[in-house]
Parts: sequence; C-alpha cells; structure tokens
Amino acid sequence: MRKLIAGNWKMNGLASSLAEIAVLKGATGMATCEIVVCPPFTLIEKSSQQLKDSNITIGAQDCHPQTSGAYTGDVSAEMLADAGARYVILGHSERRVSHHEADALVASKVVAAHKAGLTAIVCVGETRGERDDGRALHVVGTQLRGSVPAGSSSSNMAIAYEPVWAIGTGLVPTIEQIEEIHSSIRKALEERLGEDGRNVRILYGGSVKAANAAEIFAVANVDGALVGGASLTAADFAGIISAVGQVG
Ligand code: PEP
Repeated sequence: MRKLIAGNWKMNGLASSLAEIAVLKGATGMATCEIVVCPPFTLIEKSSQQLKDSNITIGAQDCHPQTSGAYTGDVSAEMLADAGARYVILGHSERRVSHHEADALVASKVVAAHKAGLTAIVCVGETRGERDDGRALHVVGTQLRGSVPAGSSSSNMAIAYEPVWAIGTGLVPTIEQIEEIHSSIRKALEERLGEDGRNVRILYGGSVKAANAAEIFAVANVDGALVGGASLTAADFAGIISAVGQVG
C-alpha cells in the first residue's frame, strides 16, 4: 500500500511560511509516497495554488458538520474543498480535549467531509493514564467505532493512531506497542468495512522524526505518519518522507 505522510501545522504558519512549502516542493519531487500538508485555514487557498503542479496535496485541520449557516467562526468542509483542500484531519486529540469533541461529533464531521469530497484523517489515541491502566486497546477501539460513520471506505478515510502522551513530547511507544494497536485497528476496520478494511491506511502519529521514521514505517500495518512539529520545516519533513524509501 502506498504510504501517506501528512503534516499537521496546527496553529502555526503565516504567509511567510509558504517559503517552506516551496522548498518542500523542490525536495520531494521523487517521493514514493503520498504527501499532504495541513496548514491553518488562512493558508489553504494560497498553498494549494502553490502546489498545483506537484505531488503534494493540501489538507485542513478541522471542519464543521454543517455545510453553511449561523456558526460564527466555523468553516465547513465544502468551504475547505472550495479553497483547494483534499484532506481534513478530524478528531485530533487537541480538539477532543480543548474543544470537548466527542466521537459522535467527530463522526458527523467525517460525514460532512465525505459529502464535500474530502478524505478524512480520523485521529484516535489513548492518554498516558489510560495506557498505564491497561486500557489503550479498549479506548482506541471505542473511539474508532464511534468516530467512523457509515459510508467510510479506504478511498475517503485514513486512521491516525496518535497516543496523546506521545504528541509533542519526544516520547514514542515501543515498536511492539505500535504493532499491537495498529493490528487491532486493522482488525476493527475489517470487521466494520469487510475486505476494504484491509486497504484503509493507518498512520502512526506522535513525535515522528527523520531519525525514528524508518523504524516506525517498517512496522506491520503502519501505512504512513501524521507529523506535527517535524512538519513545520521542509528539511525535517523531507527527512521523514525520504525514510519511506528506506523501507522497501
Ligand atoms: C500531532 O499533533 O498530530 C503530532 C503527531 O505532533 P508531533 O509530531 O509534534 O508529536
């Protein structure tokens, strides 16, 4: 399966950051994987124009479940598609925590994304406390069942397993822990989607760097990465992308 490497800029990036995208475009021409950059809303239109003739596509970091209406400050999936986005990250733990997004809301956003023709990157992952209590598999399974709506398929959805305690901390689960969760996600997807569940890409996210990427990409059922901090500079992100080529 072709790996997907997605960069989540979070609330970072000004017009001057488009220079990083220009460098990335030059550095990734020969990449063997699919590359997505998810800048803040304000840069979606400009960056997608800039990347028109490249192998990099643009994604967003959230959308509203409705198409339009009296939702001050929100942005719909249709608007994102109109601005040039092709992907949208949904259910990121930072939104689950600071915006109190529950699985049902995430699922309704995924439906909206699909209606607008966007591919949803649906995030799941346990907290440190949940892992320490031996509940990681249970928590991730519950989030997955609640956040993936009917109509999802390998062509309109990827899953990102992102242990909350690994995001932005420099901590990474062991290879065995990644393998265990990814294989449980694969099993759940097969139960849910039948044969097509085998083709849904399952990304790992949480402190991925050029130095650890190849080892993570070699794990069974790891079909790419969702990258935060290391996606902000073209040099770091290109290092992760080139690690895909080292995995065969
Ligand atoms: C993220 O926030 O999706 C993420 C994976 O962040 P980082 O790579 O910085 O840990």
